[in-house]
Amino acid sequence: QSFETFGISPEIKKALTSLRYFHPTAVQEKVIPWALEQQDILVESQTGSGKTVAFGLPLCEQVEWEENKPQALILVPTRELALQVKNDIMNVGRLKRIKATAVFGKASFKTQKSELKQKSHIVVGTPGRILEHLEEGTLVVDKVDRLVLDEADEMLNMGFIDQVENIIDYLPKERQTMLFSATMPTKIEELAHFYMSSDRVSVK
Ligand code: AMP
Repeated sequence: QSFETFGISPEIKKALTSLRYFHPTAVQEKVIPWALEQQDILVESQTGSGKTVAFGLPLCEQVEWEENKPQALILVPTRELALQVKNDIMNVGRLKRIKATAVFGKASFKTQKSELKQKSHIVVGTPGRILEHLEEGTLVVDKVDRLVLDEADEMLNMGFIDQVENIIDYLPKERQTMLFSATMPTKIEELAHFYMSSDRVSVK
């Protein structure tokens, strides 16, 4: 299969080609069409499956460039993953000039605050620091209608679930939620039940 069957824009297609992504991976094939329909999606997938592009491509395709406030929030368990996800998204969205910002703990709050003041279509971050920015009002989420929980089981293992739930309570209720997890323990299924549409699609 080719990425063209998803009906993506020429800019994204061109970016994928320059990244030498010629064919979607299995998880991308299953997730991208639903994601483009703005469905809630629960995905059981491992690192290395191409999951970042599975959620990143539809976000890059659908955020509105003109909007100055963030339109998508991605929660991840670690700083390294935040930087990697930001990087992957900027690569896929490069020709659309999509701006992603990464925020995480043990780094300057002030620097992140000024970065968040610039146009950021997509914000990626670890739960603790995202929550701090929400509490300080330095991250505005009233236009965030897309949420991704990446490596949700890791966030659970690291004790971030209360913070994740706290963050979700700040977000608009009318939104798309995509949850990615390598394993599906009961707590993750509960999270999906509570915060995602009952029409959600499950992908393995
Ligand atoms: P991830 O599971 O998101 O960590 O991705 C694993 C690796 O696969 C990353 O190094 C990506 O750059 C790469 N990748 C993602 N999508 C594709 C694709 N369609 N074709 C080839 N490589 C890909």
